[in-house]
Amino acid sequence: MRYLSTRGQAPITTLDAALAAGLAPDGGLYVPEVLPHFAIGDFDGLDTLPEIAARLLAPFFAGSRLQAQLQDICNEALDLPIPIVPLGSGEDRVLELFHGPTAAFKDFAARFLAACLARLRAPDEPLRTVLVATSGDTGGAVAAAFHRRPGFRVVILYPDGRVSARQAHQLAAFGDNIVTYKVDGSFDDCQRLVKSVLGDVELARSLNLTSANSISLGRLLPQMAYYAYTAIQIQRSGQSAPTAIIPSGNLGNALAAIVVREMGLPWGEIVLATNANRTLSDYFAGADYQGRPSIATLANAMDVGDPSNFERLRWWFKDRDLRHSNIQAHWVDDATIEQQIKVWHSRTGTAFCPHTACALAVRERLPTNNALIVATAHPAKFNEIVEPLIGRETAVPPALAQLLAQPAHALTLTNDRSALVAALR
Ligand SMILES: *Cc1c(COP(=O)(O)O)cnc(C)c1O
Repeated sequence: MRYLSTRGQAPITTLDAALAAGLAPDGGLYVPEVLPHFAIGDFDGLDTLPEIAARLLAPFFAGSRLQAQLQDICNEALDLPIPIVPLGSGEDRVLELFHGPTAAFKDFAARFLAACLARLRAPDEPLRTVLVATSGDTGGAVAAAFHRRPGFRVVILYPDGRVSARQAHQLAAFGDNIVTYKVDGSFDDCQRLVKSVLGDVELARSLNLTSANSISLGRLLPQMAYYAYTAIQIQRSGQSAPTAIIPSGNLGNALAAIVVREMGLPWGEIVLATNANRTLSDYFAGADYQGRPSIATLANAMDVGDPSNFERLRWWFKDRDLRHSNIQAHWVDDATIEQQIKVWHSRTGTAFCPHTACALAVRERLPTNNALIVATAHPAKFNEIVEPLIGRETAVPPALAQLLAQPAHALTLTNDRSALVAALR
């Protein structure tokens, strides 16, 4: 399989080079040249997420140095629980993607990318720096995935004051080969800083930088695996393909679902649920695409005004109208997020995180009787928001509790490219 840049100005390359680079040298995002096609029967005899992932991803690894190790990589990175649980009394279900070490779905992708990059690294290669901008959850997941891996250092940039207290603590609690900066700016500022450094080919080479943001192909591929797994489980249980409602920010998670459906696996409508950052809902309602500054909301990991993966989505649908492709987008305000957390807790006793609450709110507006709500984070990560609404404490998952018990140490960084370059040197 060969990989191209969405901007068409970069040389066609291999998976291994695309994984290591993160961003293409023309500033575009890497995409596979073709999409393989699958039917459910292609997965006969395969039951676990790592097994299904290895089958699904095999064509993408054709010709890679990692081809023979793909099953190993999936076993190491993707062996996380992934329950599909009923919601309420109808046919709706919740896909819980938050049972990894940092309690958000980003663990799947971060662990997969780390497993790939560790195997691609030459033993004599100088220290490689994984540079990551985070709106709260990516940084922790990447830190956990690379923590104490020889040959790697992780540099995290997060927007000061715009992540939850537990997210901030978790981001800065690893130590060792993980360095955390709080930036006086928004997530978009952090992302712009990272892109400006990674997009400078000479600088990125001299500092041996790589990216782990949602622009990385190494995140898209494993996220596809859990949407394939879920489609197969649902089909095998005799149920019809559900409408997927996916909390969306940078659009990495939802894009994976859309691509899996393009590859032939059964998914109904794919619905993007955003917070008050309305770029996607405005676009799908008919406006021109208009990236804009992000707005701070209760669902902070989705505070994105210019979703980077939109460029991939557009590339995939180049000659088709995205607005007639069984994709919708709806936005949700903070008051509704709070109301949904309250209502679902009193209905079912279950606490949801503010991101998942966006999907629950969007679900209420849809006529379907077969929805799959994607739950992206554990509510305990957002206890300051969730607990006052539900009137009780949320139980902290053990891995998160362990991190929260460590001391945290974040450095400060001005919102300025030269400050970042100096910090990296
Ligand atoms: C990152 C994140 C999202 C948004 O995912 P994208 O892939 O950026 O669209 C939603 N919910 C949570 C909890 C997240 O951490």
